[in-house]
Amino acid sequence: MGTPKKLVCDRCGNEVSNKYAIELLLEGAEAWQLSVIERDSMPRGLFPCENYRLCGGEMNPPKSKSLFSRGGNDE
Ligand SMILES: [Zn+2]
Repeated sequence: MGTPKKLVCDRCGNEVSNKYAIELLLEGAEAWQLSVIERDSMPRGLFPCENYRLCGGEMNPPKSKSLFSRGGNDE
């Protein structure tokens, strides 16, 4: 799995599309997710939105349509 091209907040719609910013954020994502799990919660996204204190949102790659619209090649 490569680095997502874009990440979107699931609450306020804030977008991060800078490749280097995403890579930097992803480096800290694991530590953040572990800290959420330690609080007996489940992370919804890869890392918190930069407006997290206001929106409480978490960043995810945009929903991919390909999950739901596969070609007709299944056997
Ligand atoms: Zn947000």
